[in-house]
Amino acid sequence: MPRSGGGGKDTMKLLHTIRNYMLYCGIEKDVYNALKKDAYVSNFKVWRVLHCLMTFVFAMLFLGSLSVDIMAKNKLFYLLMFVYSAAVTCLFLFVFRKDSLVAQLVIYLSISMLFLFGAMITQNQPDTPATTFIVMLLITPMFMIDKPYFIAIELGAASAVFLIWMRGVKSFDIWMIDEANVITYDFVGIFLHVIANSIRIKEFVLSREIRIQKDTDDLTGLMNKGAVTREINDFLADETSSKGLMFLLDIDRFKSINDTYGHDVGDSVIREFGAVLRDIFTHGEIVGRFGGDEFIVFIKDTDDKLTAENAAQRIIDGAAEQIKLPDGERSISVSIGIATYQGVETNYSEIFKKVDVAMYRSKADRTSQFSFYREDAGDESADGNLSSGIPFPVSN
Ligand code: GH3
Ligand code: MG
Repeated sequence: MPRSGGGGKDTMKLLHTIRNYMLYCGIEKDVYNALKKDAYVSNFKVWRVLHCLMTFVFAMLFLGSLSVDIMAKNKLFYLLMFVYSAAVTCLFLFVFRKDSLVAQLVIYLSISMLFLFGAMITQNQPDTPATTFIVMLLITPMFMIDKPYFIAIELGAASAVFLIWMRGVKSFDIWMIDEANVITYDFVGIFLHVIANSIRIKEFVLSREIRIQKDTDDLTGLMNKGAVTREINDFLADETSSKGLMFLLDIDRFKSINDTYGHDVGDSVIREFGAVLRDIFTHGEIVGRFGGDEFIVFIKDTDDKLTAENAAQRIIDGAAEQIKLPDGERSISVSIGIATYQGVETNYSEIFKKVDVAMYRSKADRTSQFSFYREDAGDESADGNLSSGIPFPVSN
């Protein structure tokens, strides 16, 4: 049977592709948004160097204009661009954060300044077609990774201003040549921008995938030890953070699950326990597998005991109710150690020592499945609850 609507589908696909190229550098919107900060940082690094280079070039041009007659008429423009470039270089070196939006806006300002400079130079040479301005149209888009239609707007606006401005400066014939050139090179500039961006953005996609792979625990899809440690350390290093709750979770008698049901069942218990944690912690908590049957949860910005107890109880209940073993009779129990962060510790291992002590006490205490680390009592006293779920029997 002949297929109808194939042409329409192809057209829609083509339009979707063009839209993605103009709006998101050739990738899907959500992937682009996830990479936006990477693009900001890359633009920052490139334009930090470019501003240094601009400062040097405009300084040389200004010095040249003091002694070379043919350059003298542009002396003021060179000086203006030198002062601008030097000031912005200082901002890039000492003030801006690498991923700040302000830095991105200043880059667009610098691109506009370069266009202005191109126009001013052209104004001083009314008898020849614009060259400097056109060079700017071609070069500047290559160094900015952003939604391509932003650059299209920038080039279009700069070109419109340029052509209106030059209408009163140049003879009609020269102006017509400029008009044809500017329109042509606008398209070339946008095309180069789209190509350069889509190539660069794919590098980011790849390095993001590698980063995710490096940080992910294969079995559960949660963060692995390295990623958890880094995230907790980053949180502790942040001066605005002063509260947190850390949980160390260890499945009880996991070895005997492996021994009784086999390694594959052991693996699926770990996987399902990871899913239980993922269901419970959905608000940006740090959740990861430390290795073996050991997991870490870190809740940011609270040291509330009730919150900790509720979370521990939900973990205990979730493991007991949601994880099924092949014989369907036994349930999974976990031992949990809890420590509060109150702005004292400076790295994860200091808190880890505490949760470790608390967790081992939970293991030893058959009546409780979670325990708090107690600083004031030298950790001699413990809180906990009555064991929920049927403790898994030790196999002999
Ligand atoms: P306890 O109640 O004291 O926690 O005893 P346990 O048997 O759970 O002992 P422990 O936590 O020390 O042992 C963890 C075991 O998990 C040891 C290892 O054989 C097993 N294990 C480690 N990684 C994996 C894995 O990826 N898959 C499976 N199936 N087993 C693992
Ligand atoms: Mg265990």
